[in-house]
Amino acid sequence: MKRLPVSFVLFCVIFAAISIWRYRFLRTHEVGSTERTKVLMDTLVRIEIFDKDEGKSRATLELAFEEIERLDHVFSRYLAESEVSSINRNAGRDAVMVSKDVIAVLQRSIHFSEISKGAFDVTVGAVSQLWDFTSAEPTLPEQARTEEQLEHVDYGKIMMSNGRHVGLSDSGMAIDLGGVAKGYAVDRALQVLKENGVASSLVDAGGDIGLLGSKPDGKLWRIGVQHPRDMQRMIAVIEIDSGSVATSGDYERYFMRDGRRYHHILDPKTGWPARNCMSATIVTKRAMDADILATAVFVLGPEKGLAFIEGLPGVEGLLLFEEGGQIEHAVSGGLGENITFNK
Ligand code: ADP
Ligand code: MG
Repeated sequence: MKRLPVSFVLFCVIFAAISIWRYRFLRTHEVGSTERTKVLMDTLVRIEIFDKDEGKSRATLELAFEEIERLDHVFSRYLAESEVSSINRNAGRDAVMVSKDVIAVLQRSIHFSEISKGAFDVTVGAVSQLWDFTSAEPTLPEQARTEEQLEHVDYGKIMMSNGRHVGLSDSGMAIDLGGVAKGYAVDRALQVLKENGVASSLVDAGGDIGLLGSKPDGKLWRIGVQHPRDMQRMIAVIEIDSGSVATSGDYERYFMRDGRRYHHILDPKTGWPARNCMSATIVTKRAMDADILATAVFVLGPEKGLAFIEGLPGVEGLLLFEEGGQIEHAVSGGLGENITFNK
């Protein structure tokens, strides 16, 4: 038998040693990810934590989900015992004592109602309750009924006193936090994760995405924007280092009638679905702001919506709309370099 040259054997030994050492190094320095998805707030909520310690991540995930569940019970207008239901039941009568969560959400909502000239309005509840997008045979509200209910849409009639009480000044009013609650819940979940020592995480509540820290591989976070007419693919990818991204789309909850799409984002001026956009995506620091602004900008439409975003510091956006049978887009100045299209 021919003996192998000493140099070759040495090479093999060193190579094997380096391989083992590299494998061990990567194993111990690898940042794993732990994720879980739950149905909450009428949507799919996914939380992903990037950390080596899977056991700890699992426990922390639960705490974040508990917080979202708690908020669901505060904000839901479908649960009789929620604070929002209590405010609505007492409309035209008494102010109701509420948690600081309701105050925070209403204050921010009213601020954006004012600067969007009513495109965003949580008192849209008076008309949104005429619609049921989940019914097997959805019906269209009558124009006369819509007009009647529009009388009760006015964020200026929300009364807040001593930072703890909320009342509605006319008995036909109803608050609907569907356009802001998920964003607020994302911010709160991220806060819980942070307080529990999580350094890097992504929370996605039905398209309202909040990011904590930076991505473990040091690269930018890549957030896909849903194609508005092909649910199988993304129409664009936005790259950001932190903050939130929220999208409002006419494909989330809708039904078709006589070739027309009736969806859940209503124009508070008409009471009917806003017609000028297919989707609006907002990038900004807080998920609550992104959620509100996505709805507001969707209602404003591409032209006014884009002008509105450009006037807000720290807010960027992408609007998708139809023109001549094509999907067109409008992007705010600061987002240009961070967005890639896949039309
Ligand atoms: P999604 O729930 O699909 O993320 P949005 O954030 O745009 O979409 O929220 C839509 C929800 O907001 C509706 O289901 C309704 O509850 C509420 N809503 C609809 N139109 C408005 C509006 N103009 N202003 C405030 N809230 C609205
Ligand atoms: Mg919204």
